[in-house]
Amino acid sequence: MAEARVEDAQGRPLSGCPAEKARQMLADGRASLVSDDPLTIRLSYAVDIPERQPEPASPLAGERLLLHICCGPCATWTIQHLTQLGALVTGFWFNPNIHPFSEHERRRETLAAFAQQQGLPMVWEPSYEMPAFLQVVADAPQQGQRCHPCYRMRLQRTAQRAAELGYSYLCSTLLISPHQDLDIIRDEGHAAAEKHGVRFYDENLRRGFAEHHRLAKEHGLYQQRYCGCIYSEWESLSKDAATRSRA
Ligand code: SF4
Repeated sequence: MAEARVEDAQGRPLSGCPAEKARQMLADGRASLVSDDPLTIRLSYAVDIPERQPEPASPLAGERLLLHICCGPCATWTIQHLTQLGALVTGFWFNPNIHPFSEHERRRETLAAFAQQQGLPMVWEPSYEMPAFLQVVADAPQQGQRCHPCYRMRLQRTAQRAAELGYSYLCSTLLISPHQDLDIIRDEGHAAAEKHGVRFYDENLRRGFAEHHRLAKEHGLYQQRYCGCIYSEWESLSKDAATRSRA
């Protein structure tokens, strides 16, 4: 169907309309002819066109950000998103919660390969620190309680390294997961940032969760079946065992 160009009474371009409708408007006196070829009409009445709002400036534009990364899959969408916001992202690995050590190494190596492929600079905390982790969760190993000290331990270390290495922001891939407690992560992130004199980039990243699965698959990344600690492994595997025994 032929399209006509349409202008408002001040000559500003509007969306086009079918040529037949434009001719009808000319016949009704609701528009005047600007040109026959291409058919262009000018409306005889004013149209309220909202002014285009400028995009809000990103607070991360040009900022150096140290991103705590819990695993390769959670890094995929998060890195993409923070980079699009203009942050200069470096990944940071410190996850002494992951049990057993072979699983820790598998997740670390998955991330190392992905970071290399993406050209993502990384800071690797050299020690595993599993004994210290078990101590911080020993008083509250129950599901729903142990995660708080687990977040605190990892975010405090990230903030400390961010300050030492001259980063202005820290953030964590934990913010992408609906399985984690967003409010506690935010509280701990801000507390850690304040203690070490840096800023915590606080955004609910869960809208990237579905896409992160797709990206992880696309990049062939190993995707774990439990959160990380020995308790979460036990809970996940015992659920699987119960399902198998019912089958
Ligand atoms: S379930 Fe996950 S977040 Fe919670 S304590 Fe275990 S490893 Fe940490």
